[in-house]
Amino acid sequence: MKVKEIIIDSHSIGGSIPIVIAGPCSVESHESILEIAKAVKESGAHMLRGGIFKPRTNPHDFQGLGLEGLEFLLEAKRQYQLPIVTELMDEKHLARFVEAVDVIQIGSRNMYNYSLLKAVGETKKPILLKRGFSATVKEWILAAEHILKGGNDNVIFCERGIRTFETYTRNTLDLTVVPIIQKETGLPIIVDPSHGTGKRDLVEIMSKAAIACGTNGLLIEAHTTPDLSISDKDQTVEIETLNRIVRMTQI
Ligand code: PEP
Ligand code: MN
Repeated sequence: MKVKEIIIDSHSIGGSIPIVIAGPCSVESHESILEIAKAVKESGAHMLRGGIFKPRTNPHDFQGLGLEGLEFLLEAKRQYQLPIVTELMDEKHLARFVEAVDVIQIGSRNMYNYSLLKAVGETKKPILLKRGFSATVKEWILAAEHILKGGNDNVIFCERGIRTFETYTRNTLDLTVVPIIQKETGLPIIVDPSHGTGKRDLVEIMSKAAIACGTNGLLIEAHTTPDLSISDKDQTVEIETLNRIVRMTQI
């Protein structure tokens, strides 16, 4: 389905091919993000992801490297010409994000944070709006409208699974929203099968399913040593898997 195209550097989200955003759950160190960025670039993926402010359920878990991590992401961007995508959790960092980040991610836990949505709505930055764990399509679209109302129509939806009675998977990946969001909003939507399943061995096949139903892109947690990931290791794929996923988007 034809949707608005959002251009980021030379890439188009909503264009003729699904874009792939890949990288670790968290930026872990200078060395590791540069090594992963190199592998992401070589895979043919279009953008680099990595959290520097992590919304962890457990306050005792790693919270991210903060603005120091942003410097590492910027170095990776310069070295490998990869636009960067990272989550904004607090309005106090907005100005720095507007300067430095290519796509600002609003995480699932903040989909209902209306002051944060309004604040990013006053910028022109592309915003990746993740679906709240328990958000209906209507609530999600209304969250996007908080951004649009401020004059920013560069909104990209991201389906990342919802909480259901099922516990085998971390979340239940709801692919029906792909055509629904495209039709209802005319905006692009990408799919995150990493958080959507919580299981590494389901990421590739659910990427294929997302492509089959017309996703405008994929968000993939990938790492050069997935088992050593500081966060979300169970759902983080090897670079070899990422390579196959990228190839799938190109046919
Ligand atoms: C993430 O992308 O690393 C993340 C925290 O995702 P979500 O907000 O969907 O849980
Ligand atoms: Mn994660």
